[in-house]
Amino acid sequence: MKTEHVYPVPADIAASTRITEEVYREMYDRSVKDPEGFWAELAQEFVSWNAPWQRVGRWNFDTPAIEWFSGARLNVSYNCLDRHLADRGAQTAILWEGDQPGDQRRLTYGELHDRVCRFANVLKSHGVGKGDRVCIYLPMIPEAAVAMLACARIGAIHSIVFGGFSSEALKDRILDADCRLVVCADEGRRGGKFVPLKHNVDAALSQCPLVETVLVVRHTARPVDWTEGRDRWFHEAVESASPDCPPEDMEAEDPLFILYTSGSTGKPKGVVHTTGGYLLFAAVTHKYVFDYRDGEVYWCTADIGWITGHSYVVYGPLCNGATTLMFEGVPTYPTPARLWQIIDKYQVSIFYTAPTVIRALMGLGTDWVKQADRHSLRILGSVGEPINPEAWEWYYQEVGEKRCPVLDTWWQTETGGIMITPLPGATPLKPGSATRPFFGVVPVILDAQGNELTGPAEGVLAIAASWPGQARTVFRNHDRFRETYFALYPGKYFTGDGARRDADGYYWITGRVDDVINVSGHRLGTAEIESALTLHDSVAEAAVVGYPHNIKGQGIYAFVTLVADATPSEDLKRELIERVREEIGAIATPDIIQWTPALPKTRSGKIMRRILRKIAANDLDQLGDTSTLADPAVVEDIIRGKPA
Ligand code: ATP
Ligand code: MG
Repeated sequence: MKTEHVYPVPADIAASTRITEEVYREMYDRSVKDPEGFWAELAQEFVSWNAPWQRVGRWNFDTPAIEWFSGARLNVSYNCLDRHLADRGAQTAILWEGDQPGDQRRLTYGELHDRVCRFANVLKSHGVGKGDRVCIYLPMIPEAAVAMLACARIGAIHSIVFGGFSSEALKDRILDADCRLVVCADEGRRGGKFVPLKHNVDAALSQCPLVETVLVVRHTARPVDWTEGRDRWFHEAVESASPDCPPEDMEAEDPLFILYTSGSTGKPKGVVHTTGGYLLFAAVTHKYVFDYRDGEVYWCTADIGWITGHSYVVYGPLCNGATTLMFEGVPTYPTPARLWQIIDKYQVSIFYTAPTVIRALMGLGTDWVKQADRHSLRILGSVGEPINPEAWEWYYQEVGEKRCPVLDTWWQTETGGIMITPLPGATPLKPGSATRPFFGVVPVILDAQGNELTGPAEGVLAIAASWPGQARTVFRNHDRFRETYFALYPGKYFTGDGARRDADGYYWITGRVDDVINVSGHRLGTAEIESALTLHDSVAEAAVVGYPHNIKGQGIYAFVTLVADATPSEDLKRELIERVREEIGAIATPDIIQWTPALPKTRSGKIMRRILRKIAANDLDQLGDTSTLADPAVVEDIIRGKPA
């Protein structure tokens, strides 16, 4: 894009960092030239092992077969709890802020350890053991972390289903993972509304005959239906259980969890992560990317139903002995000042959220931000979608007041942890760029034939070597794992995303490869065109897709949501087209602009261009799997609003 600023490392950060630009380069070089030596050292520093590995890393991307630290023994809950007790038993592990302002709890490492051991014994008493699958369907409450760590303690494999999913989606995931036990709550609370979790479980289980036990957290304490013999209150079970539960000795390659991807592109896949490599990668990235310092309060807003919640609400921070904040509610309840007030209340130093949140709050105006002073903030992060430069700038200037680096972190459910990202003290920032690879990560850009491009280039983003946090398989479907990620470009991990590498070696994610638009033979990523549209003050959000066009092959169809106080007009359309021509060029000129009150999003807040593409092409009877949509009504609105 024409408008490209470079922001140097903020002075305060530069003065106190261990990882300067020079150190980053040295460490990165070492990490890719001697990955085994590099990861072995970090494995000693970050993780406590019961027995050593035979081999640090061994993989081939053909079968594919991926192993890290095989032969080594450890337990994830021991690493996240027991080993901290001597020094940090009384330190807060989890700060919890409920949906209702004033609802709050805190758990020390000692208390969390006690709950986890008790709940692990409850699971055992219901016959759950090593390798069994447990479905967790909970709101953002501390019991979610307790349930995850209790599974890890006894070697059970958790499969968390986001609390916003319907009973249908829950049923599919319980059946696919073959879960025998479900942990849920009576209800969740979001934005002042009640979410009927237990009710959804009851509906799902009518079609899941193998589930024998449901453990129910009493959260809102309103009445729920009860199936005697199957349902049991979580708190009663925990109170009566013994607090003594030795951690199961696990092999590094034993599965830790299954997690279904968010479903932006199609049918969700049950991605499997294992014990040793995953924990190490989550802990190392948490420490270096966020520059986490002892005693700081760290807040990642992601739900535990997503990989970000797994790696950066629970496993990474707790492995590092951090204080992690969990928030049950939504950014706009009771007012759009909520997030910033929470930051003040708990003196949050590090804040990690998603572009959809930033864009929504930006559209509501900066006054809400100013209601809090935010002095505690040191680091800001973003994940989930490309962050358009306009939103990046707002986050940097208004929220962080130019003090806090904005870390645009690119990664996926399948990568387990952050892959491409700035490091606070090492990386000058360019709004809209995820910048450079993390240690041990070898991104490559390929052309359509799979040739590796060097220097500045644009194409398909792939990863050339394994890293410890890499997913090992798709649950009970290794063929799908191979076909999805390793078949198209042999010997490389195919990310499904496109990227551009600039002359400084910075990476810019251009969008999903499936979403690429081909105009008269020119391949255009969606991110850049959307960024150009959102540069206009009247535009809150935009999504572009290709549609069949007689002359150009594909034309560009833009769905645009305006900010609260803007009015749609033909003049505004002309201005937007002009803006795209200036920023990118005539080739990217939208052929059609449709105003829409909202865009279809997954429940994790990502724009679902797949559905917009069908609407643009008038394939209305082929919208595909819409079960992961946050609000299906949005699709109806857009279909109705289509220009004739
Ligand atoms: P599915 O794989 O089921 O279609 P999904 O890809 O949305 O779902 P996730 O693993 O949660 O599931 O998301 C990873 C994807 O999110 C990336 O492949 C990329 O497209 C997008 N993404 C994440 N972070 C960034 C980022 N910082 N910049 C650009 N895109 C990002
Ligand atoms: Mg994906």
